[in-house]
Amino acid sequence: KKLIVWLRRDLRLRDNAAIAAAVETGAEIICLYVLEEHAKLRGLGGASLWWLDKSLKSLRSDVSSRGGKLICRKGDPGAVVMDLVKEIDAAGVYWGRRYGRAERDIDGHLKETLANDGLCAESFTTALLTEPWTIKTSSGGYYKVFTPYWRAVKTCYEAPAPFPAPEKLGGQGIDGDRIEDWGLHPTDPDWSSGFDDKWTPGEDGAVARLQRFLDNGLREYKSARNRPDLEDGTSGLSPHLAFGEISPAQIWRSVTSKINHGFKQDDSAWTFLSEVVWREFSYVLLYHNPEMTRKNYNDRFDSMPWRPNASRLERWQKGQTGYPIVDAGMRQLWTTGWMHNRVRMIVASLLTKHLLTPWQDGEAWFWDTLVDADPASNACGWQWTAGSGADASPYFRVFNPITQGQKFDETGEYVRKWCPELAGLPDKHLHAPWEADQETLEKAGVTLGETYPKPIIDHSEGRQRALEAWDTLKKQE
Ligand code: FAD
Repeated sequence: KKLIVWLRRDLRLRDNAAIAAAVETGAEIICLYVLEEHAKLRGLGGASLWWLDKSLKSLRSDVSSRGGKLICRKGDPGAVVMDLVKEIDAAGVYWGRRYGRAERDIDGHLKETLANDGLCAESFTTALLTEPWTIKTSSGGYYKVFTPYWRAVKTCYEAPAPFPAPEKLGGQGIDGDRIEDWGLHPTDPDWSSGFDDKWTPGEDGAVARLQRFLDNGLREYKSARNRPDLEDGTSGLSPHLAFGEISPAQIWRSVTSKINHGFKQDDSAWTFLSEVVWREFSYVLLYHNPEMTRKNYNDRFDSMPWRPNASRLERWQKGQTGYPIVDAGMRQLWTTGWMHNRVRMIVASLLTKHLLTPWQDGEAWFWDTLVDADPASNACGWQWTAGSGADASPYFRVFNPITQGQKFDETGEYVRKWCPELAGLPDKHLHAPWEADQETLEKAGVTLGETYPKPIIDHSEGRQRALEAWDTLKKQE
């Protein structure tokens, strides 16, 4: 008999509960990936498609090294899966769960169809440490505040033993699309050269990235995680996690095993795991509030007097705001498909507060340009910064892009790398070039308004506007 394992956001063979359970049955395992076309599903952004292309090719080679073939098909997911079931007379389908409303509806419907045909359909936890409905507060609800949620996870979570990777896979002789024919890689223009320099998508790349971080980054994580200039200040695991090339349980096991073996910087290690749990927390919120990818979690923000402005949004997107730390971040994003977390907060604050732009516009840009674009973490990150989220940063907390730059990019290395036109400025003026005198600017080859933009809005004015907008909200209550 044959069993299909439908791989989605868990593109790996190791520590994959769905694959391991399928192997246990003794059936021939057929690994399937579907490029889903469905009106209710949000299409992947350009950067994610770039990643998917490489990740699938890596998976294809991992599957074939076990004698199998990764079957790739395109179309309405339910129909594609059922067609394959019938074509190969499969006994059923196994998969790892996903948590968005549309995805759950599609999977639920498929489960029903399979059951009606007397076939098996089983789902497993492959993308998270724990299912979003399992950890509850003492009153029985879900957690809406991170710190107690983290405490609960830390106390009660124990990673299961790793699920063994399959030794042998099937699928030879079954038709599928060539990944190359899906056109996932950008052409005309190909903007991805900076991505190639930074990333190795696929399961082996993920495991190597974790190892590199354990060796070079974990020790100092607690203090280095806020330094965007450091290459190994954070793990860089987010796109691997977003595509499920590594499981959060693998990370948990590796880090806790270090702690249990006397790792001295256990403070750093726990801080790192707590960040991994922020991802879980985002999924708890998404699961219980499926609309939060587009709608304010806190509906008080529904009457926020936003002032959307297309040309300002474009300057922000292109890294031309005149605030060096913001522009550095937006250019890092465009060039590599990733931005440091501290800088994500700064750019998001500038957009939603100084520029009074709805957070959804920023979320959409990130969705298109991030290799780690993730429905839960992206919506939560934006709503957190905008103030509309659960356990959010209060709206009146307006990040100051100048002092944030000075504090977290003290040596200016990050800004100099991404805004090379400012590299000649002394550290003192790097984060506020307009404060430098004419002679300093000339010496550095900077002409404001020509070689580098003047600030898109004066900081105090932007801050004031944001606070006034907030006041009008409060008055409406
Ligand atoms: P590390 O510091 O090494 O953390 C390890 C892992 O923990 C990360 O890989 C990630 O999976 C998880 N993590 C860390 N911080 C957070 C966080 N604040 N929220 C949720 N998970 C976290 N993360 C995404 O994965 N996808 C997104 O689309 C996304 N959009 C964001 C948008 C905004 C506006 C903000 C402020 C944050 C967003 N984040 C998003 C969270 C965070 O910025 C990234 O997860 C982090 O920068 C990834 O880098 P890293 O892997 O080196 O992180």
